[in-house]
Amino acid sequence: MKKVSLFLIFAGLLFWACSKQGKNPFFSDYNTPFNTPPFEKIKEEHYLPAFNEGIKQQQKQIDAIANNSEVPTFKNTIEAIENSKPLLTKVRNVFYNMTSANTNDELQRIAKEVAPLLSKNRDDINLNEKLFKRVKAVYENKDKLNLSVEQNMLLEKYYKDFVRGGANLDEEKKGKLREINKELSVLTVQFGENILKENNVFELVIEKEEDLAGLPETVITGAAETAKEREHEGKWVFTLHKPSMIPFLQYSEKREFREKIFKAYINRGNNNNELDNKANSSRIATLRVEKATLLGYKTHADFVLENNMAKQPENVYELLNRLWVPALKIAKKEAKELQDMIYKEGKNFKLEAWDWWYYAEKLKKAKYDLDDEALRPYFKLENVRDGVFAVANKLYGIQFVEITDIPKYHEVVKVFEVKEADGSHIGILYTDYFPRASKRGGAWMNSFRKQSRQEGKEVTPVICNVCNFSKPTGDKPALLSFEEVTTLFHEFGHALHGLLSNSTYKKLSGTSVLRDFVELPSQIMENWASEPEALKMYAKHYETGEVIPQELINKLKNASHFNQGFATVEYLAASFLDMDWHTLTEAKEYDTLEFETNSLNKIGLIPEIVVRYRSPYFNHIFSGGYSSGYYSYIWAEVLDADAFEAFKETSLFDKKTAQAFRKNILEAGGTEDPMTLYKRFRGAEPKVEALLKRRGLR
Ligand SMILES: [Zn+2]
Repeated sequence: MKKVSLFLIFAGLLFWACSKQGKNPFFSDYNTPFNTPPFEKIKEEHYLPAFNEGIKQQQKQIDAIANNSEVPTFKNTIEAIENSKPLLTKVRNVFYNMTSANTNDELQRIAKEVAPLLSKNRDDINLNEKLFKRVKAVYENKDKLNLSVEQNMLLEKYYKDFVRGGANLDEEKKGKLREINKELSVLTVQFGENILKENNVFELVIEKEEDLAGLPETVITGAAETAKEREHEGKWVFTLHKPSMIPFLQYSEKREFREKIFKAYINRGNNNNELDNKANSSRIATLRVEKATLLGYKTHADFVLENNMAKQPENVYELLNRLWVPALKIAKKEAKELQDMIYKEGKNFKLEAWDWWYYAEKLKKAKYDLDDEALRPYFKLENVRDGVFAVANKLYGIQFVEITDIPKYHEVVKVFEVKEADGSHIGILYTDYFPRASKRGGAWMNSFRKQSRQEGKEVTPVICNVCNFSKPTGDKPALLSFEEVTTLFHEFGHALHGLLSNSTYKKLSGTSVLRDFVELPSQIMENWASEPEALKMYAKHYETGEVIPQELINKLKNASHFNQGFATVEYLAASFLDMDWHTLTEAKEYDTLEFETNSLNKIGLIPEIVVRYRSPYFNHIFSGGYSSGYYSYIWAEVLDADAFEAFKETSLFDKKTAQAFRKNILEAGGTEDPMTLYKRFRGAEPKVEALLKRRGLR
């Protein structure tokens, strides 16, 4: 009786929802090529009803699992939880890709409304006593269940999720945890939104032509185009978007303007206005202290790292310290060289952070006769992209075919079907490479659909790469800096991890691996970007088609250790700062800037180098998923440097090595312990030597 009336109310609501909004695309099959999202049909008003309905459906499923009268089994409990949220996953996958890559005020508003709902939904599951009892029963019985390696891993993960989600707490503490989670969910969204806005607000308007001194022609053309877009026609505008700011810092002879744009960049979220993130940083860190204490951990970092390869904060600090000492020494030497250059020019000012890029570029030219701008013509975006496709083809036999008659969320997006050598379908890849106001900074991979198997049927992945690269300017195509080339290869490596995934369960699929393992597939790809054999495949002059001359390749190679002290120190300092924020034990209000200064003074960071992310714009740790995890990049670099040696020992495109990497790392995703997987690929645990050599730290 109750069931029926509930159903009628539910059906009535759904009908009302449909008639009000037209057909909500999330409530039916997509009916598109490869079942990709029908972006042109998805309107802003569709998200919230789909979230609400998705949560409702999941809770119904969860209730059914918790109240099941049968004995708990892997299938009726663990697999059932795994499959309890098809609608919620469907809407989330689209929504969070849009709030990252193509957002607007309305989507941001919805994000803030949805965050506490999702937080509550997660807590309702984790803190559901009946449900946990069943999960625990399966877990305690696991040795008798004859589970596969992958099933064992899934069980382990769910059990841990519950325990780490507070399932063992008493009622009072559960209530407190809910409050913390709710507040965190909103604050972290707000943090990211403030940075997005801060990124767009600032503009450096140049009015006089002489103030463009030193800037390359393409940079000037780009700035004139930006000025036109921003209603400063006839002037030149530089923004905090990397493709605009970095060349300005590298080439502008106007020191006062370099200072202005640099200071604007490092003060994002620190302007004492409505976008200020200082209080948010401190509050988020404090809430994390409270949560860790509640769950019985010494610190938030202990809580996070328990689940990573590093296991505990001491291990992270140990690696960071080991690299910090030699890196700082080199950075100081680099600073001195730059200072000498200033004196040699007959100037007597002290080198400042906003001078570093400019003089480093000059020094590189003097020492190696290498100029970033001279390389760009060989790195036309399309050539680089086709190059990385060709590399993947040589390694894994896979092919990329562009599709044009498929929905896209923005006109600049390109879509590719990814196929095996025999033509069978693997998945879909979207590429979205240029900055715009609706996109957050940085570069990332994400999925619109993760690979999995549903009742034996293959669900194929839909993956995207989103970046902020140099745009076409004037009559020139998009010509990338070498750093952007490397980033393209990096993100593509993540994409391969998602595309080649071969897992039954979404929770273990593709990039769903430990945080300090996830950068292995991406960082290893960067190696191919700079190998001469690969460069000759893709680095072709955009006008003449001429292959990059050996001479230029040699220069690139000779300069590969150039400025590495700076890059390593800038990065490591951010990793220390992250760890310091998350090894706090006292839940109180912190003066964010004072805390940061103390943290960086402790390691002896020199004033000429600013930490890569200052606290008020450290999105990775206060808004993304990298809290006590920013060290992962260097951790994974130990792995990727060692892993790439396997190709060096054989050949750059060695089929057998590639096959072993694909099978043990890319396909395996999170289905097994990462070190087990790594050893199966490499035959031994990784050694740190390859990394030290690569970074010139020995
Ligand atoms: Zn990455």
